[in-house]
Amino acid sequence: MKDVYLLGATGSIGKQTIEILRENKNAFSLKAVSCFSNIELLKKIIKEFKPKYACVGNIKDKEDLEKEFSDIICFSDEEGLLDLVTSGGDGGLLVNAIVGIAGLMPTVKAIEHKRDILLANKETLVTAGKIIKDLVKKNNVKLIPIDSEHSAIFQCLLNSKNEDVESIIITASGGSFRDKTREALESVTLEDALCHPNWSMGKKITIDSATMVNKGLEVIEAHYLFDISYDKIRTILHKESIIHSMVEFVDKSIIAQLGNPDMRIPIQYALFYPERKNFFNIKSLNFLEVKNLSFQELSFKRFPCLELAYFCGREEGIMPVVYNASNEAAVKLFLEKKIKFIEIEEIISKAVKSADNILNPSLDVILETDKLVKENIYNMYEVKR
Ligand code: NDP
Ligand code: MG
Repeated sequence: MKDVYLLGATGSIGKQTIEILRENKNAFSLKAVSCFSNIELLKKIIKEFKPKYACVGNIKDKEDLEKEFSDIICFSDEEGLLDLVTSGGDGGLLVNAIVGIAGLMPTVKAIEHKRDILLANKETLVTAGKIIKDLVKKNNVKLIPIDSEHSAIFQCLLNSKNEDVESIIITASGGSFRDKTREALESVTLEDALCHPNWSMGKKITIDSATMVNKGLEVIEAHYLFDISYDKIRTILHKESIIHSMVEFVDKSIIAQLGNPDMRIPIQYALFYPERKNFFNIKSLNFLEVKNLSFQELSFKRFPCLELAYFCGREEGIMPVVYNASNEAAVKLFLEKKIKFIEIEEIISKAVKSADNILNPSLDVILETDKLVKENIYNMYEVKR
């Protein structure tokens, strides 16, 4: 029986993780859960799974939880999230399904408490990839990706040597606006942007898919996760989302991982790794129904945020932090309908071009950079308005 700490239990990945835990109550015990503001759903989860610890986004909701559940220990805010992650002895699994850099410090603390990390929160590796990899090694814990592309690459790389890898090929669905020209992007709305053709996900990642920032974050995530140079990371548009990614080896043999687009597959794989299970009768991929698998170039001209990600990744230091922070701020403004879709990439590009790099940043420098970049963007926006 493994203890599970589930951060972001009320989100898209969190809810699908709960589905899997529900079917496997004899294998996993949900020990700790968190949400930000969806307290009603969190209460349902607590009633069903009876965890020992829970964390919410603010003190008022914490008090509300304490009144209703006198037998669990409740925390709130950022600090509380760290208390949640460090409570209850060492070991077990942490599923990090929080969105944004808010997921970084909980990952750090969980590794220090020898918990294996099942990572959906790509922002953790984008902002502090080297620090996280070093901590994982030092504390001898597992780091297993949940992101579908990285789960695919992880599986393709099983039993292979790093020097045998020629390249990894990350596929992209193209997001909501894949068939639109750059000119047409001028007039798209928030509602249009939130309609992803293949996946149902949280709002931020859906917007990130439309700007191709998601693929950019995934390139940086892959660089750290698989210890592979940016020159060997390729991206390709694959509209069907059937091939989740591929690895080409030096002998030019390519191994790919395929399946219907269903995030329960990589979540389940991470939870049970190295075993394989299927509790949902997830449909087999029917090649005759799929008929065609298509591939197109992912042009940097059409998707400049992807090129910026390669640039920031190669620069290292705080540049990936600047890329991520400016994107988080811009997406927040877009979700609040304060800027146009096309302004997201303008904001990221400006932030990246005006940043002075700092190499080998500490966690403090990373968090401070994140804060400054976001503050700058919000201030700029206020002035403009
Ligand atoms: P959602 O927005 O659906 O869920 C986010 C979760 O995090 C919710 O439980 C939310 O709580 C909580 N949360 C939000 N903000 C904070 C904060 N500041 N502090 C603490 N908790 C917070 O996101 P997704 O599930 O779509 O994505 C989660 C992560 O997984 C992201 O990094 C994303 O890139 C990655 N990912 C997602 C995929 C998907 O299919 N959705 C696929 C691959 C990767 P509340 O509900 O109360 O607001
Ligand atoms: Mg992905």
